[in-house]
Amino acid sequence: MSLKLAVPNKGRLKERTVEILRQAGLEIEDGAERKLYATVNHGDMSVLFLRAQDIVRFVHSGAVDMGITGWDIVLETDLDVEKMLDLDYGRCRLSVAVPEATGITSAKDIPDGSKVATSFPHMAGKFFKELGKEVDIITVSGAAEVTPHLGVADLIVDLVSSGSTLKTNKLVEVGVIAESQAVLVASKKSLATKEREMRELAAAIESVLAAEGKRYLMADVPIDVLDEVRSFLPGVAGPTIMNIAGRDDIVAVHVVVDKAEIYDSVNRLKRIGASGILIVPIDRIDP
Ligand code: AMP
Repeated sequence: MSLKLAVPNKGRLKERTVEILRQAGLEIEDGAERKLYATVNHGDMSVLFLRAQDIVRFVHSGAVDMGITGWDIVLETDLDVEKMLDLDYGRCRLSVAVPEATGITSAKDIPDGSKVATSFPHMAGKFFKELGKEVDIITVSGAAEVTPHLGVADLIVDLVSSGSTLKTNKLVEVGVIAESQAVLVASKKSLATKEREMRELAAAIESVLAAEGKRYLMADVPIDVLDEVRSFLPGVAGPTIMNIAGRDDIVAVHVVVDKAEIYDSVNRLKRIGASGILIVPIDRIDP
């Protein structure tokens, strides 16, 4: 059964999304980003490049089966879609920020009647309502951070990642409404008929995330230091140890290691007499 996957056509999430699909083994045809529809090397799947905002709506209606978009957008559109995976990139938070000059340090101290500029009117409205505040929400389609300087708003609700945009605009964060990152979402309608294919795609993407920051290390190790190697290279299910034809004094050790541990591990392996050390990248880990 064929699957339609929607991915962002621009913005912060696009590049990493395409990279993850390629790493999962779904090679998207060249120049695909400029087309609406792209086929992938897997015959039963097509990838659509759409605006991140539209992806949730299309997934909800079942026009596409699955989508990758920001969790902030899912929360804002408030439509019932199934989150299958957190993807661990595009991290940001939806925050309340006020001009530094106000001296306000908490959202609780924002006066009633304040004007709040945001492209997240649903989330902002809900937040202030729960806080018992009467504020005017002014919906903007972007660049909320300039509105206090224009006198259009008293404060903003916007996405913050490094915080440098707020700083440049002399705004300070006084509350966090939600944390966000890229997510894989699924249409509940599609899940009813294509659940197996959809879970397979989710598992493929998850295996790419599992390989993040990992390397495959291979080394020829003297047999008498194997116990020591096992002690500092535990691996996924322990190191794989293989005989080398014609040698009874050394074995080949293959093991998955954290990238951060490579430097120390290689030095240690060399000190105890290992040779032929190779470090290779891993696209996927399907345990
Ligand atoms: P920063 O200066 O790094 O805090 O980024 C803030 C600006 O980038 C704001 O204009 C946000 O709307 C936008 N932004 C930050 N993170 C994201 C994200 N994950 N997805 C979309 N827009 C974002």
